[in-house]
Amino acid sequence: MKTWFKELSFSTSKAREVIDLTSKVTSAVRESGIKNGLLIVQLPHATASLVLNENESGLKQDLLNKLDDFAPVRGGYQHDRIDDNAHAHLKSAFIGSSRVLPIADGRVVRGTWQSFLVIEQDGPRTRRLAIFVMGE
Ligand code: ZN
Repeated sequence: MKTWFKELSFSTSKAREVIDLTSKVTSAVRESGIKNGLLIVQLPHATASLVLNENESGLKQDLLNKLDDFAPVRGGYQHDRIDDNAHAHLKSAFIGSSRVLPIADGRVVRGTWQSFLVIEQDGPRTRRLAIFVMGE
């Protein structure tokens, strides 16, 4: 069994936005040379999250709006006493920052409408995405 690791760097340009990293992730998997195995993608941050969903402008705005309903900015949180981003931590904690997907016959197994979307909640900033592939 082979293992392969890469860390990508990317920038976000707004305080809250959804970024599509699908082409970067799938080209990294191709670069790994692994045809059958597992892909682990991990966003090493506490104020952003990673989901698999449709890259459609209306839905991306719906996601941001719904998350603001769940955890509004400056919603009277304890953490805001030392920082101003409790809402971003809460959203990240509940959604999660990593995903595991199968790789079969050289393709990441995912649905047609499942893009790798990063939900930024504390931008703009430089972020990283860790990509680990194992298999043969
Ligand atoms: Zn914080």
